[in-house]
Amino acid sequence: MTATRVLVLNSGSSSVKYQLLDMRDSNRLAVGLVERIGEENSRLKHTPLTDGGTSRERTEPIADHAAALQAVAEELAKDGLGLDSTELAAIGHRVVHGGQSFTEPTVVDDAVLAEIERLIPVAPLHNPANLTGIRTAQALRPDLPQVAVFDTAFHTTMPESAARYAIDVETADTHRIRRYGFHGTSHAYVSRATAELLGRAPEDVNVIVLHLGNGASASAVRGGKCVDTSMGLTPLEGLVMGTRSGDMDPAVIFHLMRVGGMSTDEIDTLLNKKSGLIGLCGDNDMREIRRRIDEGDERAKLAFDIYIHRLKKYIGAYCAVLGRVDAIAFTAGVGENAAPVREAAVAGLEQLGLAVDDELNAVRSDEPRLISPADARVAVAVVPTDEELEIATQTYALVHPAGKNI
Ligand code: AMP
Repeated sequence: MTATRVLVLNSGSSSVKYQLLDMRDSNRLAVGLVERIGEENSRLKHTPLTDGGTSRERTEPIADHAAALQAVAEELAKDGLGLDSTELAAIGHRVVHGGQSFTEPTVVDDAVLAEIERLIPVAPLHNPANLTGIRTAQALRPDLPQVAVFDTAFHTTMPESAARYAIDVETADTHRIRRYGFHGTSHAYVSRATAELLGRAPEDVNVIVLHLGNGASASAVRGGKCVDTSMGLTPLEGLVMGTRSGDMDPAVIFHLMRVGGMSTDEIDTLLNKKSGLIGLCGDNDMREIRRRIDEGDERAKLAFDIYIHRLKKYIGAYCAVLGRVDAIAFTAGVGENAAPVREAAVAGLEQLGLAVDDELNAVRSDEPRLISPADARVAVAVVPTDEELEIATQTYALVHPAGKNI
């Protein structure tokens, strides 16, 4: 029997998200999440999708990632989808930071693990958890290929003019300071799916992808290759996000240290966790912000306006970077669901060929769709992202180069 299943693992510091897919038809067999690993009240939510899809929940102490994966394996086994199955072809891992070393998905060996570890200083929050996930999965199925799919890989095609900060070159190189970009798996998937929606080959299409979730980033993609993106050394740069500030004068940090007496860690927390929409108005959920605006709340309105202003600046900048733009694609939680954000982001940009049709913009759907008027010069699209499917596809292509022709 040909092994056609791929388990996708997204390991955070205290959580593991997973999906099991059958790559014959990209069908999802099970999805789930383990939260609060290491606490007394850890929780596993498992949803088999093979028959009916009734979720099961377990709340019990789950000490570490090894115990979490063991619990996941038990749940999968109850549905006849056990990880000991010969049908499992590989395990695909989301790895946040691949630096300049990893430009493609990579089968994990000791050298790969060592390199992911070496990158911890530039991704202190993410890479350690991703490594733990890989090591745990290796212990469970040592015979199986483990594939690392990097959030940064899609952005490694950025030219030096976009990837370098204008700081002293030696200092930058010593500390590996450059713009890496993140959400690459989503930008890759969505830019390709947008070309498909237009009925054109990715190589022929220039797309601006706006990944607007709780974290948010924009990218300029020319002919299927990323030429600029809004996140930088870390995910802090760029757009206004749920809890991150995005762009600001770096001197704000010196000022907070010198005048505000704040420590490095306090400023890190301020800018990553207490800024953006939540810092501006106390809410980071766009649904709640829209509800407050409808009730006349001025703070929520200002937060929304700042969010949109920044988004517009990036749309304009990436029109300039690309020269010719064929499509703008909105994706992720806000981009896929918040019609007022899409409307406001392109309002007044008719000179750039951008407009949305109000009726099309109001449609709710899980399918990729156009929301621009039929005669628009630039297509405006909503393209739901699917990072797990992209990780599974890339993983399977690597371990089974014949791809879907099985
Ligand atoms: P993500 O990080 O892609 O899961 O996106 C999560 C964010 O999407 C939430 O914080 C909300 O701001 C936003 N979101 C989700 N659903 C909706 C919706 N129906 N309308 C507006 N915003 C939404």
